Amino acid sequence: MRTAIYPGSFDPLTNGHLDVIQRAAKLFDRVIVAVAENESKHPLFTLAERVALAKKAVAKLPNVETDSFSTLLVEYVAAQKAQAIVRGLRAVSDFEFEFQLALMNRKLDEKIETIFMMPKDTYTFLSSRIVKEIARLGGDVRPFVPPNVQIALKKKLKRVK
Ligand code: ADP
Repeated sequence: MRTAIYPGSFDPLTNGHLDVIQRAAKLFDRVIVAVAENESKHPLFTLAERVALAKKAVAKLPNVETDSFSTLLVEYVAAQKAQAIVRGLRAVSDFEFEFQLALMNRKLDEKIETIFMMPKDTYTFLSSRIVKEIARLGGDVRPFVPPNVQIALKKKLKRVK
């Protein structure tokens, strides 16, 4: 059983994340989308909301699960008996941080491999931060996020206004 963990803030999950998840789901028997608490990033959605949004968005993928974690990532990966961490690479600008993170995780647990997946080119400009900015300013986010996330953004930001 080959298991991969796809960790991130997913605040909220976008079509770029989904693209990476679908690619990983073809390579691994089981993929766990692991939502990090990341309170220091002051997320727009609570941890429970981010998990629920991701869960609904991946519901049709039989070998994909959603979970949350607040421990060290390598500890979570070991607890799930997973072999790999999946991360997405959009552009060279992602590389430096991701490279550092991957090597640090290897220092912490050398048995765990980090695998990078490139999304479809049309998603390379997409980030949760940009999607939130567009939504805040009243733009149409439907091309960038699953329908349930679009509805949640609308609800959340109406309350903010
Ligand atoms: P984090 O706060 O850990 O960076 P994110 O939710 O922003 O969490 O991203 C999780 C992972 O998904 C990261 O590896 C990030 O580079 C990747 N990612 C984010 N958006 C995209 C996208 N549009 N295409 C491919 N990978 C992406």
